[in-house]
Amino acid sequence: MNSGDATPELDTPIRVLGAGPHGLALALHLRQADPSLAERLVVLDPTGTWMEVWRDQFRRLDIETLRSPGVHHPAPDVDALARHVTEHRLPISGTPYDLPTSAAFSHFCDHLSAEAALAPPLARRATAVHRVDDGLLVETDGPTVRTERLVVLPDIALIDGVPVPDAGLRVGAPPVHVMGRLATIELGPAAGNLWGARMAARRITRAVTGIDLEQHSLQPEQRVRAPRRLSVRRRHAG
Ligand SMILES: Cc1cc2nc3c(=O)[nH]c(=O)nc-3n(C[C@H](O)[C@H](O)[C@H](O)COP(=O)(O)OP(=O)(O)OC[C@H]3O[C@@H](n4cnc5c(N)ncnc54)[C@H](O)[C@@H]3O)c2cc1C
Repeated sequence: MNSGDATPELDTPIRVLGAGPHGLALALHLRQADPSLAERLVVLDPTGTWMEVWRDQFRRLDIETLRSPGVHHPAPDVDALARHVTEHRLPISGTPYDLPTSAAFSHFCDHLSAEAALAPPLARRATAVHRVDDGLLVETDGPTVRTERLVVLPDIALIDGVPVPDAGLRVGAPPVHVMGRLATIELGPAAGNLWGARMAARRITRAVTGIDLEQHSLQPEQRVRAPRRLSVRRRHAG
């Protein structure tokens, strides 16, 4: 690989590989924490479209409802999907736990990317990531691109072997943040599903911006405080 192939005009601080639910969750969380980050975010996905793989899988397999409840979705506000379904009179499933219909979920995700004015993903497939002195180089099926910070969603060949992320889902420096199955060591088995997307997006947003969106959405009195030590009075016999 020749680092001289890098495309300077594509240099951005944050580059995301994959425009599925994980990529969307991250873009929305970063934007909510710091709207200026949305402009510095470049998403690469061979489909060139948000959520295309997800939509295609649901269409081909004829899946009418999600397997997970309505609080599992890419938006930072957990109630947003339920509200959206009511406001737009979208179809509901009537199943136990009222699992969201695939149609409603798709409509909701389109609405999220449009409302947040997210740019369409660049139609590129990443093939490898390399560390260089002053950043990261991402090899793609087009030109190689340089970036300072990268988020990896699919299981593409990673530098440094199997990633062992820290609490911010960072691996090494310059930082590569991992999501999806690559984040399982930190997030547990849910890492690959919609709830995992939200957990990972929140962790990475906190690592990048210092803002914990979950705490911000709560009233001050609901925020988690450092646990107080319980004072236990021991009874002495006799
Ligand atoms: C049929 C089906 C139903 C599911 N139902 C549910 C459900 O109801 N609830 C739930 O929580 N989970 C469900 N899951 C799990 C599901 O995989 C996750 O919820 C979700 O799709 C994971 O999001 P993702 O962004 O990691 O993956 P994906 O949706 O697979 O998106 C990954 C994206 O990365 C892109 N990409 C791949 N390789 C590269 C590359 N080299 N460079 C750049 N981009 C690349 C792809 O084009 C794709 O757009 C389901 C999975 C399947 C297959």
